[in-house]
Amino acid sequence: MGFDMSVRVRFPPSPTGEPHVGNLRTALFNWLFARHHGGAFVLRIEDTDRERLVPGAVEAIMDALLWLGLEWDEGPDPRDPSRDVGPYGPYVQSRRLELYQQEARRLVEAGHAYYCYCSPERLEQVRREQMARREPPRYDRRCRDLSEGERREMEAQGVTPVVRFRTPLSGETSFHDLIRGEIVVRNDTLDDFVLLKSDGYPVYHLASVVDDHHMRITHVLRGEEWIPSTPRHVLLYDAFGWEPPQFAHLPMILGPDRSKLSKRHGDMSVRELRERGYLPEALFNFLGLLGWSLDDHTEIIDRETFIRHFDLDRVSPSPAIFNQEKLDWMNGVYIRSLPPEELATRLLPYLERSFGRVDRGLVARAVPLLQERIRTLAEAADMAGFLFAERVEPSLGDLLGKKFTGTPGEAGRALLAALERLQGLEEWTAQALEGALRPLAAELGLKTGDLFMLLRVAVTGRTVSPPLFQSMELLGRERTLGRLEAALGRLRAETG
Ligand code: GLU
Repeated sequence: MGFDMSVRVRFPPSPTGEPHVGNLRTALFNWLFARHHGGAFVLRIEDTDRERLVPGAVEAIMDALLWLGLEWDEGPDPRDPSRDVGPYGPYVQSRRLELYQQEARRLVEAGHAYYCYCSPERLEQVRREQMARREPPRYDRRCRDLSEGERREMEAQGVTPVVRFRTPLSGETSFHDLIRGEIVVRNDTLDDFVLLKSDGYPVYHLASVVDDHHMRITHVLRGEEWIPSTPRHVLLYDAFGWEPPQFAHLPMILGPDRSKLSKRHGDMSVRELRERGYLPEALFNFLGLLGWSLDDHTEIIDRETFIRHFDLDRVSPSPAIFNQEKLDWMNGVYIRSLPPEELATRLLPYLERSFGRVDRGLVARAVPLLQERIRTLAEAADMAGFLFAERVEPSLGDLLGKKFTGTPGEAGRALLAALERLQGLEEWTAQALEGALRPLAAELGLKTGDLFMLLRVAVTGRTVSPPLFQSMELLGRERTLGRLEAALGRLRAETG
């Protein structure tokens, strides 16, 4: 598909909560499409549904985009969202009300829309009757052809009308979807939808079409769930006498069981994804493959490659599957590819979140033990927590494991022997530690695995840790011996 410099796309979130995986995928595909074609990526805030607004949501959306590296060319100024960047602002719909009202009036004057005075009570009544007759609920068009006199009477009674679209009663509306091909609907399946509410706020359909036109949007890339809206939009463009943009509806995102993506599948807000320690570059890669592919096999793709190759011809119409295991795997790949100092820098906030101020040098020295073993940054706090925590509190069950169950005395004797051996150790290195402890197992008549597990639990508090001797080396002589003594005390208390 050859598009020129004039490609303009938009990401128009409603600030009704924390952005999730699906929102970010839509933003990413728009951004990639703009970057690939050298076009503009516009951020527009669709805040006309006043009841659903959530304070802080605009900031959360902007934060999420910036974190992922999806900077916008036009939209609210990230440093001060009450200001705009770009020639077609304001980019916040609540600041464009006059424009929508003016355009709605124009449609009424041209006969494409009309004032409707029906009360909410009447509409509810109509709906109930239709349901009882098992008809699809829709406006019964009572005000579609009011006479001038009837209209004036309603106005005299002080009823503030809504504006409704005069949907053609027959014929078909169609559009060409760049991903799905021709989509056709019969006009008699659409009702006379509201354009402008009585409080002067536009409904999504009107605001979206007016803005896409006035902001010179060339391509509308949005989720599949918006397909039912598009014929209405096409009718509106027609009524206004405007050229519609091109439409492309992105595949929906499902869980591995092919049901709607939910918390259970690992659907997370961007804030949660960050808290868990997914790297933005890994998430970028992962989201980029939710519905698009480079070829049939490549999984690890960097930003530049995405930009170079991204286009709609490789966006699939069938649902994309969100697989959290794949995300974890991919995040691990990106973690391993970071330079160690960079990983240390990124780990710092995650460790400080759990342990307060931590020794940066120790973090750097721990990186080699962690880099191959963690899949998220937050896992480091579990895996290497023993290094940063004041003390560890192994459970008795873990200390005794399978081997020593029922014989805490034997475990105590083994710990004491290890302690004595280590107290005399001259050099505190992994190699020296191993040289001292490996033969000890045989001397005690224990399997090395059983002795090492006991020591691991005593020193790290967990049955899973980085390699034992390297962990002890990093932890240092004093703290290692202290933990062995504490565990010994614990076992002694148990044997009385
Ligand atoms: N405000 C709509 C949303 O929340 C925009 C839909 C569209 O892209 O037209 O997703």
